[in-house]
Amino acid sequence: MSKIKKIAVFTSGGDAPGMNACIRAVVRTTLYFGGEVAGIKQGYQGMIDDNIVELDRHSVSNIMQLGGTILKTARCLAFRTEEGMETAYQNLKKHQIDALVAIGGDGTFTGAERFSAKYDIPVICVPGTIDNDLYGSDFTLGFDTATNTVIEAIDKIRDTAESHDRLFFIEVMGRDAGSIALRAGIAGGAEAIMLPEKDTGIQDLIHKLEEGAAKKKSSSIVIVAEGDKNGGAFAVAKKVKEKFDFYDTKVTILGHLQRGGSPSSFDRILGSRMGFAAVKALLNNENRKMVGLRSNEIVLTDLREALTEHEFKLEEDLLEMSTILA
Ligand code: ATP
Repeated sequence: MSKIKKIAVFTSGGDAPGMNACIRAVVRTTLYFGGEVAGIKQGYQGMIDDNIVELDRHSVSNIMQLGGTILKTARCLAFRTEEGMETAYQNLKKHQIDALVAIGGDGTFTGAERFSAKYDIPVICVPGTIDNDLYGSDFTLGFDTATNTVIEAIDKIRDTAESHDRLFFIEVMGRDAGSIALRAGIAGGAEAIMLPEKDTGIQDLIHKLEEGAAKKKSSSIVIVAEGDKNGGAFAVAKKVKEKFDFYDTKVTILGHLQRGGSPSSFDRILGSRMGFAAVKALLNNENRKMVGLRSNEIVLTDLREALTEHEFKLEEDLLEMSTILA
């Protein structure tokens, strides 16, 4: 090991499938290189409450296939304060922790960046969020599994839509980012996709549905990201119904079932790669970086850049294709 002898890993913000694979990789990589590992329970809350446990290779046996996070996660207001950070620092010192691997979203990264700059504790962040909305990585942990879950739901709803000639509005997660909606919409053959990034008005949607009716489509599925500018699936369905009374419309909100479940092979491997890379980066004296995947290569991005750029763009070809293939 370098001067870093002990690494602590934690998960923070929303849970995402693949986090456990990442925790496992952090533990086993650190041990491989001769270091020690601790797990901080419930993210920053556990850092403040001294909820810190030692981890060995058996602590992470048989967790790869589990959704959620074995370390649990939390949203912690106290860590935003100077006193909260000071308590967290004292607890890390007590456990002789030299460096951190933080798995979470941009809130987690902001906290990690502030903390590391103030207390000179090296930190590497791993993007773990189903939203796929972070700059510096083509994919975030959990996004692939969540998208597959949505596709499975669309397929099932399609059976009913088809049998009853119905128009279904399916709301999926994505307050600011339409990645899940766009990909699941394409893969599930949705007739229309309403995204936070695009201003698709009700008139445009109705036009699309009319085109579908002209092509003698017997059922239609519209995917609505929760952050859609019209106000979500119920609002969209209501507005469509006002114009087209003859449509038999139904709304399904998929909600939190999108967050859980056994991770896909993609997320298991991504979590493993990112955890492995995070430890190697710390041992190479990297600090305040985010591990990401770009063009199938692991890359490091400065945390500050990842946080300020924060401009994850939907792929243009997917956007164009989604309307043509529907
Ligand atoms: P998700 O994308 O799933 O919401 P996230 O990491 O963005 O994940 P947040 O709740 O925004 O989730 O942030 C996680 C935690 O990071 C917060 O509960 C808080 O403890 C810490 N945090 C967020 N912003 C700051 C900040 N400005 N300073 C210190 N800590 C912060």
